[in-house]
Amino acid sequence: MKCLECGGELKIFDSRKEDDYVIRARYCKSCGRIFYTKEQFFNDQDEGYSQLRALIKKRRAAYWKKREDGGKKKTQKGSSLSSDSMSI
Ligand SMILES: [Zn+2]
Repeated sequence: MKCLECGGELKIFDSRKEDDYVIRARYCKSCGRIFYTKEQFFNDQDEGYSQLRALIKKRRAAYWKKREDGGKKKTQKGSSLSSDSMSI
């Protein structure tokens, strides 16, 4: 997040945790202004929720595809190694 005043970088210096939300206190490294943010669960009705879900779905699919590809390569290597040791 960026400072609403000057656009500088915000640093978290305190947070208060509740059951279903977190309040964070942040200060601007450039102008020193303090801001408070609230972090909480998204609801279906919230603005941006469907876009966020679509984005995460896309990223998860890419992540799993990458993992699957990596796993296949490893299995192939492993099987060739075991067949080598079998012949010896
Ligand atoms: Zn600032």
